[in-house]
Amino acid sequence: MTPTKVPFNDLKLLHAKLEDDIGPVVRSVIARSAFIGGDELESFETAFGEYCGDSLAVGVSNGTHAIELALRAIGVGSGDEIIVPALTFIATVEPIIQLNALPVLVDIDPDTYNLDPRLIEDAITPRTKVIMPVHLHGQPVDMEAITAIARRHDLLVVEDAAQAHGATFQGNTVGSLGDIAAFSFYPGKNLGAFGDAGAVVSKDTALIERVMRMRDHGRLPREKFGHRVWGGNYRMDNLQAAVLLAKLPHLDGWNAERRQIASRYDRGLGDFVKIPKVLTDAESVFHLYVISTDDRQALHDHLSDAGVASGIHYPQPIHLHECMTGFTDTLSGDFPRAEHAANHILSLPIFPFMSDQQVGQVVTAIRDYALANVTF
Ligand SMILES: *Cc1c(COP(=O)(O)O)cnc(C)c1O
Repeated sequence: MTPTKVPFNDLKLLHAKLEDDIGPVVRSVIARSAFIGGDELESFETAFGEYCGDSLAVGVSNGTHAIELALRAIGVGSGDEIIVPALTFIATVEPIIQLNALPVLVDIDPDTYNLDPRLIEDAITPRTKVIMPVHLHGQPVDMEAITAIARRHDLLVVEDAAQAHGATFQGNTVGSLGDIAAFSFYPGKNLGAFGDAGAVVSKDTALIERVMRMRDHGRLPREKFGHRVWGGNYRMDNLQAAVLLAKLPHLDGWNAERRQIASRYDRGLGDFVKIPKVLTDAESVFHLYVISTDDRQALHDHLSDAGVASGIHYPQPIHLHECMTGFTDTLSGDFPRAEHAANHILSLPIFPFMSDQQVGQVVTAIRDYALANVTF
């Protein structure tokens, strides 16, 4: 059989399958011209809050703004130190800079690629206010360890859950594990909008009300001129809410598909490359399936020749980005594990409706490469 191309993700296929779900709701929003605020937004907020372990949710403009609003709601400001992992997307750190607070990087666990709780206490100072773990690649962080440290030092926990919709730790859903959480609905995320969107999630009604005010010029829905606090325009529009509301019932099924693909990769590749380790108490939603190998560039090229797309998340740890120049006083030296990971990781295709043939093609391409190259 001639091999098909294996894309990194296939949103066209996903959305073709969802046409009957999404078409009518989008047309309904247009027919009513209900573009800002409205029933779909409120229904999505209720549904997504419930999905995240009976929490409350506020729809916002994107995941980066969700992090910023979460930090502002808990009172982060000038000079506060926020502990973040050294390997993450830059958007975890940007809102900290926006608020004139200071990112304090901590190295990762080399097996899960997540913030290593064993290294956190050394990074705590009298100015530390928040620990912000990232459930990177869809894999929950060890929240039991992080919560214990936060309690001991009287710190708040903000989850960057942008890659982990529906993942669980000790049976509880990501987004309900800390004080407040941020989600992204960027189109390629496990739950994606038709553009930019995000959400802030918490069980604390006072925090949620503050976020709700700040995302819309200081007012609550239906309070036309009740500008009680300074906010801005961080709104999620109603078309995005309609799309997300139609997609949400499918999310668990898609996540289960991702886990099935991951377990086929685990079985097929475990002898050849380093496969991701999932914590015993955790259920990953495999936003990404990340392998590690000494021969990353050559393997990437080989896969590309075999028609298999792959990616790197992320090629540079946070401290090595040019924009971090000037923040070196908050860096506790270097972060060898994050640097090692950045130089060795490769993300394989994983997405809902990926065919068995496509998964097989990825496995075969990697095995062929490994068997031809003894250096593995
Ligand atoms: C995608 C992402 C964000 C930012 O979300 P946007 O919606 O793109 O602004 C933040 N943190 C992580 C870890 C992400 O993957």
